[in-house]
Amino acid sequence: MPELSWRHHTLIQALLSRGPLNEKEFHKIFEGVTGKNPGTHQQLFDAFLLKINKELAYVQFELRGCRNQYDGKVCYGVVNNIADEQSKLGTKYTVPQIAFYKGVVEAIVQDVTAQGCISSIDALNIRLENQVLTGTESQGGPLHIPPAFKNFSISQKEKTLNELVRDQWLCSTPDGNIGLGVRSFLDLRSWFRNNEVPSCEVCNEAGVKAEMCRNEGCTVRIHQYCLKKKFSQRRVERVCPGCGTQWQYPVSKREAIEEEDEANEPTQSQPPPGPTRKRLRSCKTEDPDTVGSGRSQASVRTRSSARLR
Ligand SMILES: [Zn+2]
Ligand SMILES: [Zn+2]
Repeated sequence: MPELSWRHHTLIQALLSRGPLNEKEFHKIFEGVTGKNPGTHQQLFDAFLLKINKELAYVQFELRGCRNQYDGKVCYGVVNNIADEQSKLGTKYTVPQIAFYKGVVEAIVQDVTAQGCISSIDALNIRLENQVLTGTESQGGPLHIPPAFKNFSISQKEKTLNELVRDQWLCSTPDGNIGLGVRSFLDLRSWFRNNEVPSCEVCNEAGVKAEMCRNEGCTVRIHQYCLKKKFSQRRVERVCPGCGTQWQYPVSKREAIEEEDEANEPTQSQPPPGPTRKRLRSCKTEDPDTVGSGRSQASVRTRSSARLR
């Protein structure tokens, strides 16, 4: 059994008591205890995490990194790999509160348009009764709905939403909706898989908040940050990896200028790919109306059809 040093323990302790931590905070703590910057000592950093996880595995815990899908930032946390929601949230939340959390998460990931959020109104309208059906001990007789579920009021839901956002199980998105919090992103990885939440074509993680292919017959979805990474590579065709439909990727002003510079460079030896095509593309994608309209109309369509079903 490998022995952990005080350095390993400090990292675990920081995540347990203050976590989840964003990458910057966690790297700073790592640098504090090892004197090495993880950016320049990636191998050392990885070796530390590996050693910690070997030990944590004995108690079915894991130190894990994941991305917050709304801003693409990496965060770290220690997660309990076997426990259900009851044991994860049970010390702070009541049974109906946990059922409500599960209802909200399900509504968020079931969105076929991959917006990764629901409105607060929709959240408050989630019925806890539906959560009883998902229990494993269905007796076959008439469904027994606990009174605490039936009587869970709107104000109790509001209070629970606030607490879940504060504890980072959920988040409040910039446009005022309810999304998943970093704790859920860290914790629900296998749940996403088991519940067949469609994954991102690039990184294979669940695509809860993602961009979707414009082709309505295509199910490809890609995280915004994965798109950025993929399409910012020079000479990568901006098309859907699944069906080849052109992907309207909003080129930032800086990238567009860089592209124009590149096109204007006096490199006559190789045939330029054609500055007019590039310019056309950046004009097209720079106009936010053009970018949004096609997608959002499609979203409205699919969203309403999903509701009907
Ligand atoms: Zn991705
Ligand atoms: Zn496609």
